[in-house]
Amino acid sequence: MSKINRLLIANRGEIAVRIIRTAKEMGITTISIYSEVDKNSPHVYLADESYLVGDAPSSSSYLDMEKVLEVAKVSKADAIHPGYGFLSENSLFAKKAVKRGFIFVGPTAEAIEIMGDKLSAKKAVSPFNVPLVPGTNHPVKDIEEAKTEGDRIGFPLMIKASAGGGGKGMRIANNNKELEEMFPRAVNEALKSFGNGDVFLEKYIMSPRHIEIQILSDSHGNFVHLHERDCSIQRRHQKVMEEAPSGLLTPEVRAAMGKAAINAGKSCDYVGAGTVEFIFDTSGAFYFLEMNTRLQVEHPVTECITGLDLVREQLRIANGEHLGYSQHEVGLRGHAIELRVYAEDCANDFAPDTGTLAIYKRPQGPGVRIDDGIEEGMEVSIHYDPMIAKLIIMGETREIAIQRMIRAIEDYVIVGVETTLEFGKFVLNHPQFLDGDFNTHFVENHFRSNEARKGEYDQLTISLHSFSSKESKYIKDSKKTISKWRSRFN
Ligand code: ADP
Ligand code: ADP
Ligand code: MG
Repeated sequence: MSKINRLLIANRGEIAVRIIRTAKEMGITTISIYSEVDKNSPHVYLADESYLVGDAPSSSSYLDMEKVLEVAKVSKADAIHPGYGFLSENSLFAKKAVKRGFIFVGPTAEAIEIMGDKLSAKKAVSPFNVPLVPGTNHPVKDIEEAKTEGDRIGFPLMIKASAGGGGKGMRIANNNKELEEMFPRAVNEALKSFGNGDVFLEKYIMSPRHIEIQILSDSHGNFVHLHERDCSIQRRHQKVMEEAPSGLLTPEVRAAMGKAAINAGKSCDYVGAGTVEFIFDTSGAFYFLEMNTRLQVEHPVTECITGLDLVREQLRIANGEHLGYSQHEVGLRGHAIELRVYAEDCANDFAPDTGTLAIYKRPQGPGVRIDDGIEEGMEVSIHYDPMIAKLIIMGETREIAIQRMIRAIEDYVIVGVETTLEFGKFVLNHPQFLDGDFNTHFVENHFRSNEARKGEYDQLTISLHSFSSKESKYIKDSKKTISKWRSRFN
């Protein structure tokens, strides 16, 4: 197998920067793509070479397969790393890339296809001793079938789009009447949003934890798991804060989940880094949700506790190398927490926010890692995902990691857009989070948005004191922001 010398990163933002860093460390030449609005972004100037692929909308730039593959050819790339989001889980893209002679840093197109659809994933893993959420493991054709199955499974239940993702395409029905109302809407919405109207029913697990297992496998059939990540702090069924390890797992349960995750990988001959997501109920039982066939947003917490660089592992595997270590050699040390710093207004139901980053100061110090792809003065636009950075904290214990993250949030100054920083502080100070007594409903059960607003205001006032002697232009912008906030209070 040929070795990767020139890597095209088919992505933007923090994950493109993240991949560029490791590739450089490995002596690989890095090639970026960018859209018109991203021309001054770090992922563009940090790469050895960068190519414009189109206008701001993803469909005419980062999602345009042909343009991306054309750049790969023109730039003489020998491999393509898709990151997450965009084309990363598009099996046709993986297929085309390989057909045109590029190494695709990820699993085969077949594995992506199987796991990209929730029903075909369930079908693949079920003979491999992977526990499934009780439900229908086939598409439900009509309302009559839905009612019969609903009676069998019991309420509440979830109607899920087989092709859904990113927390979209899910509905909860509490009784037959709701099921009848929601079913046709779910089918229509699935067809419209995902181009596939297949929906299925799943028992709604009450008060669950979302626990996922990171796996790695090489092209020689060796598999290991890198323990779990607890991603139960979510809004809109989407993660905001993740940690590793989970306080919930005993070594025995960890081993059992690890084994189930590896089996899920084996069911599709998986090669590379992948994540098997489980839902964990109050009785301690766990069920397969889906497999993500790519690098995950929250992969850094796993890097912190294992000491491995997952992008390096992906690139080594893509080069045909052996993993070179076995399960018992995978370390587990300390505790790590990640907060996704989204440009979102927590006081307004986490609505995406846009604007110019008038002040952007990163925290520093032991155990503090920031993965971002933006800079002070840059615009957070409507065109892409509102995640602007990831604050990743590592400590010897969970308590130390929590204290450290609170300190880092206080040191982090972002003015110009609303962010989830203060929300993060709210979670970290909450007695139930501290006790490890929380589930995926934490946000709706405990979060009162006006409390966050007050906190943000206090923090900004303090931050401004420390900046008041310099950068008057920024201060002016900040004052505008403050008065905007003040007017909301009065
Ligand atoms: P993770 O499981 O890694 O936490 P997320 O659900 O947060 O993944 O999604 C990761 C990225 O992929 C985000 O940028 C998100 O916007 C994008 N994404 C995930 N699913 C979809 C989808 N169905 N359609 C569009 N974008 C998606
Ligand atoms: P996506 O592809 O959008 O990531 P998932 O199936 O991974 O979809 O589910 C996302 C989140 O939705 C989970 O982390 C969990 O919070 C919630 N969820 C999904 N299925 C169930 C279920 N059967 N019962 C309770 N909550 C669920
Ligand atoms: Mg998921």
